[in-house]
Amino acid sequence: MYIKNNIDKIYERVNSIISKKGLSLDDITIVAVTKTVDVDRINEAISYGISDIGENKVQEIQCKYEKIVPNTKWHMIGHLQSNKVKYIIDKVHLIHSLDRVSLAKEIQKRAEEHDICVDTLVQVNIAEEDSKFGLRKEEVIPFIETIKDFNRIRVKGLMTIAPYVENPEEVRFVFRDLKNMFEDIKEFKFSNVDMKYLSMGMTNDFEVALEEGANMIRIGTGIFGKRTYKED
Ligand SMILES: *Cc1c(COP(=O)(O)O)cnc(C)c1O
Repeated sequence: MYIKNNIDKIYERVNSIISKKGLSLDDITIVAVTKTVDVDRINEAISYGISDIGENKVQEIQCKYEKIVPNTKWHMIGHLQSNKVKYIIDKVHLIHSLDRVSLAKEIQKRAEEHDICVDTLVQVNIAEEDSKFGLRKEEVIPFIETIKDFNRIRVKGLMTIAPYVENPEEVRFVFRDLKNMFEDIKEFKFSNVDMKYLSMGMTNDFEVALEEGANMIRIGTGIFGKRTYKED
């Protein structure tokens, strides 16, 4: 019941924020972050209504893919090396970490091979942390223009990872900045862009992110508990 209780609590907390905005749970995608979590626990979460799962390593997706309930939507939320695109291109529902032209080229090439279109989010490093991947704010629009003829790539929104802070109020500006950028880019009406998803907020800060307009949140610890081995 541990996982079910956690999921119920997350739904409750999400709902209490978004109901004030006149939104319902249908308007929000909760991506259960399953890195380091074994397949039995992932499938258990799916049995309680989780439909979207997020991984940050290609290898983990490959290892788990066949063992997870079919029709689950896989999200690639971690840094993606170009030479690994080929392993996941036909498995993932959404890539959250598009952050450079060389990666876009590789996605375009592999998508052509599979005759598919790939949905992506552009990752933005709002707080300009050296340790984080993602484009700087001022690079985002030029980047989207550069990839506009990549006909196999659709930009469906933006993603950011806020710096970890104890008090999430301190990173409210990150979410606000990304939301503003999200709205600005909509106005440009780029042909390859359909600004639909704003992926921001994790266990520690999702409530602030939702208040600032997130419609996709990525929750690991809040659903599965503390991860047992070190992340990189
Ligand atoms: C690990 C991870 C999360 C989830 O973090 P929690 O704090 O466990 O909720 C969300 N997004 C990304 C990109 C991650 O790597």
